[in-house]
Amino acid sequence: MGEAGFRADQVMLWIYRRGVSDFELMSNIGKALRARLAAHFVIRPPELVTEQVSVDGTRKWVLKLEQAPGEKPGKPVTMIETVYIPEANRGTLCISSQAGCAMDCSFCSTAQGGFSRNMSTAEIVAQVWFAGKTLGGDFQNERVISNVVFMGMGEPLANYNNVLPAIRILLDDFGFGLSKRRVTVSTSGLVPFIDRLGGDVDTALAISLHAANDKLRDQLVPINKKYPIAELMEACKRYLAGKDRKSHIIYEYVMLDGVNDQPEHARELARLLNSQGQAAKVNLIPFNPFPEARYKRSTPEAITRFSEILRAKGLLTMTRRTRGDDIDAACGQLVGKVQSKQKKRLGDIPVRVQ
Ligand code: SAH
Repeated sequence: MGEAGFRADQVMLWIYRRGVSDFELMSNIGKALRARLAAHFVIRPPELVTEQVSVDGTRKWVLKLEQAPGEKPGKPVTMIETVYIPEANRGTLCISSQAGCAMDCSFCSTAQGGFSRNMSTAEIVAQVWFAGKTLGGDFQNERVISNVVFMGMGEPLANYNNVLPAIRILLDDFGFGLSKRRVTVSTSGLVPFIDRLGGDVDTALAISLHAANDKLRDQLVPINKKYPIAELMEACKRYLAGKDRKSHIIYEYVMLDGVNDQPEHARELARLLNSQGQAAKVNLIPFNPFPEARYKRSTPEAITRFSEILRAKGLLTMTRRTRGDDIDAACGQLVGKVQSKQKKRLGDIPVRVQ
């Protein structure tokens, strides 16, 4: 707008750190500039459709996106989901990057509804802004949101042009000011964009691996046919090469009963990761069911056995605790609509419907 650069810093602090949505309240900005800003821009989060709170404290918001430029009028409203997972020493916000998803992973309910559209940078960061305001606290002193993960709906690297500026706003001192280790991009493995991400910004990277051989991974994560495991591993190595020594890749592995959870799968996974000479952590995710799912969750015994094999081979292994599954807020359960199952429950749990 031809204004001095420090004005941008001021506006960003008002918006992101102080959660102000009215230019008139930006008291260190002159009246004339406030008026110009108000004439050109709005600060408005997506409309809240439902809020649900799990018995474990996890919250899920269904948010309605506005009509995007060029979108056909009369198209059904686009909704996305954002999940807040409170823990003793941190609060993680799981955000969406696309309405729907085109990756078609066979164990993920987001895939069932197909792809609707990319989210804009504004829509992506608005989830953090909205959640921060709704939860109270702020991004300066009391951080209720300490971590942000791109593990909601969508494949973040398939919407790179909008996701990259969103990451920059999350990390910027004048934005949400999160530290680079507390922002995690999770991908099904879009190799060229893993390289671009590594060159453009410094964040934690999670890879949805789910199988250590191409035959099985082709079935679970179809993008593997385009970017098979060997290429994916090379991209992960390149990603870490430019980072400091404390960095590692998180490998996510969904535990599907009888499909990828046998001891031989664990040994194969250990062989694969140990042969890379890269810092790796394994995150086992017990499968979360959804109505049309063709898989079952591995038994607790299978998960324990699997993680013990990995640990015995020297791999740092964690099993992700299932959170918010009573409100369909767990990994792979986000669909961006108010489901009948949820509606039935509205009376039972604290819910605000707008
Ligand atoms: N598209 C990105 C981010 C999405 S989901 C990606 O693929 O990484 C975050 C994690 O949840 C991914 O590892 C995904 O594979 C996993 N997931 C998907 N469906 C699941 C399900 N039904 N149960 C458990 N985890 C699931």
